[in-house]
Amino acid sequence: MKDPDVKLTAELPLTEERWQAILCNDACYDDKFIYAVKTTGICCRPSCKSRPPKLENVRIFHNVQAALSAKYRPCKRCKPSGQRLPEEEWVAQITRYIETHYAEPITLEALANLFHGSPYHLHRTFKRITGSTPTAYVQQTRINRAIEQLLTTDRSLSDIACTVGIPNTAYFVTLFKKITGHTPAAYRLINSNLSTEEETDHGSDI
Ligand SMILES: [Zn+2]
Repeated sequence: MKDPDVKLTAELPLTEERWQAILCNDACYDDKFIYAVKTTGICCRPSCKSRPPKLENVRIFHNVQAALSAKYRPCKRCKPSGQRLPEEEWVAQITRYIETHYAEPITLEALANLFHGSPYHLHRTFKRITGSTPTAYVQQTRINRAIEQLLTTDRSLSDIACTVGIPNTAYFVTLFKKITGHTPAAYRLINSNLSTEEETDHGSDI
């Protein structure tokens, strides 16, 4: 099988931003680079809580494979070679997919095909990691997008239902009510009243 990361073995420059990420143990950078320390021969994730290295001893690599192939050993503390649990990464890919493709039909079988797992395994793993089933996650994502449109546009319900991937308006209304406790029309009305009141309240404060 081809490894898409093979070309990403280059060493990266130690920018101020990366240096700060190392000093602050910033986990947001964990999937952006790995740093290695020349004096110890060890490579770490940016979030590693070990003592900060001296700046002049630091080398930056695109990923842990690159650091390992430059003969650095993975830190025992932050375990960069086991960066994220593979299943967490897998589920993160699936949630990203759902959040960008919610307008299209999404079935458990299609997700399983796309992400190379059995529907049963995907369902179980997804639920264990996110606390929600894939189907519930898709529905919640669609309803969240619908809420945004209800409150920020005057598009019709059927229009909104379509753009969030639920072409059957009656089903959209049922699902919306099940998740939010209100019909879309009531939700729009209640919340537009609320925002008017807030504005009025705010105005009377001055
Ligand atoms: Zn470490």
